[in-house]
Amino acid sequence: NVDHVGYLSQDRIAVLADAHGWFPDAGETVRVDAVPAAVRDDLTETFLGGKGANQAVAAAAAGADASLLGCVGEDEAEHAVVETLAERGVTVDGLERVDAPTGYAAIVVDETAENRIAIVAGANGRVTPAYARRHADRLRDADCLLLQNELPAAASLAALDELSAAGRRPTVVYDPAPADGAERVLAHDAVDVVTPNESEAAALAELLADFDGTVVRTLGARGVAVETVDDSFHVDSPTVDAVDTTGAGDVFAGYLAAALGDGAALRAAVERAAVAAALSTTAEGVQTAVPARTRVLDEIRD
Ligand code: ADP
Repeated sequence: NVDHVGYLSQDRIAVLADAHGWFPDAGETVRVDAVPAAVRDDLTETFLGGKGANQAVAAAAAGADASLLGCVGEDEAEHAVVETLAERGVTVDGLERVDAPTGYAAIVVDETAENRIAIVAGANGRVTPAYARRHADRLRDADCLLLQNELPAAASLAALDELSAAGRRPTVVYDPAPADGAERVLAHDAVDVVTPNESEAAALAELLADFDGTVVRTLGARGVAVETVDDSFHVDSPTVDAVDTTGAGDVFAGYLAAALGDGAALRAAVERAAVAAALSTTAEGVQTAVPARTRVLDEIRD
C-alpha cells in the first residue's frame, strides 16, 4: 500500500466530513472504492504502508527473515513499494504484479494522535486462492505465518488449508484487522494466535469467546491482555510520549510474529512486541517509526 497521510485538526476533519458526507470515525478503519480527490489533497505526506507491509518491515526490524506475499500494481507506486520494502530488509520475490492499481490508504491523524483510515484495496484485492497455492512451499517452510484481513479471505483460507494439509507447519498469527469480514479466517483450525485491538475485539467478541487458540488483545496505552487455553495474563506498555499511534498494532504484530517464529515463549514475545509498539508511537509514520531490535532489547534491559 501507499499511505497518503495528513496531520489535521479535529476542526479540519469536521469540515472535510461535512463537505464529503463521509469520514471514518476516530480509531476506525474502513474499506472504500475510492477516496475523494479533495480529501487526498489534504493528505500531504506519503508513506509506504498497508498492514502486511508494515508487519513485514517490523518483523524484519525484529531480526526475522521476513517475506511479504501479496500483489502490487504495475504502476509507479509499485516500484517505490517494492524497492523500499527491500531496503527495509523484507524479501519481496514472492510479490506478484497484477493489472490493478497498487493498494492505497488515506490516513488522517488528529492532534490527539488518534487516526482515521480509509483503505482502497486495488491490487491487494487480486490475491487469490491460486496465488496462495503457488506459494504453498514458502508458506509451509516458514516458522511463522502472519495474516491480516486486508487481503481477500478466500486467499487466506486457501493458505491455511495448505498448512492444514502439511505435517510440519508454522505458528499462524492472525491480525483480524479490519474486523469486518474477519470471521471465516478466525474460525479456521490452523489459526494459533489472534491479535485484535479493542475495536476489533468488540466487533468479534462472540467468535473470540469460542476461539480455542491464544487471544492477544492490544489495549493501546493500557498494554496487552493475553488469554491462552489455560492461562491469562496482562503485559503493561511502557509509558511514552505518543505523537502518532498509527500502526502501533502492526509493529506489535510484526515483532510478536518474529519472536514466536524464533521460538520465544509467549509472554516474552508479547513483552518485546509491546515495547516495540510503544516506541513506534513516539515518531510519525509507521515503517519509518519501527524501532530496531537493539533499541527494543536495550529498553527491556533498562
Ligand atoms: P492498533 O494500533 O491496532 O489500534 P493498539 O492501539 O492497541 O492497536 O496498539 C497496539 C500496541 O501498541 C498496544 O498494545 C501497546 O503495546 C502499544 N501502544 C499503542 N499506543 C500506545 C501508547 N499511547 N503508549 C504506549 N504504548 C502504546
